[in-house]
Amino acid sequence: SPEVKLAVFGRAGVGKSALVVRFLTRRFIWEYDPTLGKKHLLLFYGDTENDSHEDLQQRESHMRWGDGFIIVYDITDRGSFEDVAPLRSLLEDVKKPKNVPLVLVGNKCDLDHARQVGTEEGERLAAEMACAFYECSACADEGGAVAEAFHEVCREVRRR
Ligand code: GDP
Repeated sequence: SPEVKLAVFGRAGVGKSALVVRFLTRRFIWEYDPTLGKKHLLLFYGDTENDSHEDLQQRESHMRWGDGFIIVYDITDRGSFEDVAPLRSLLEDVKKPKNVPLVLVGNKCDLDHARQVGTEEGERLAAEMACAFYECSACADEGGAVAEAFHEVCREVRRR
């Protein structure tokens, strides 16, 4: 199917909607690039700080819905980084026995002066989760890392 369902998870305020907007506005240009091919993306993003029963059920149903996942934390918010491992465990439980296409994103790397999570910590966690890792900034995305993260998870979905 040409359709890829991506779900973006992470604590409120980490920049999920900013990343999606950044990605989609760039993508507008790529739509004219025939080498990229046509693909339709369905996107969902959800906050994860609320652990009420209803929210957990909703989160699980979005996890079932998704083909590929981006888990986002904010490099200036250690708590958002600590949310990642539990999210990944839940994802594994919900999707098992499938191997889940996943990318880890440390956002807001333009705020290096306020950094609470080191790049190596992100790399180590991604290695433990056996997924790709990107540090990026939805505000100052000069290197195109935001798009690269979205493309990587799409490629992962295609590979399965
Ligand atoms: P969400 O709740 O995860 O969807 O987060 P938002 O996308 O609403 O972003 C929360 C706040 O962080 C907003 O004020 C954004 O402008 C800001 N923000 C998002 N991404 C970045 C980033 O890469 N760098 C900086 N400096 N601010 C960001």
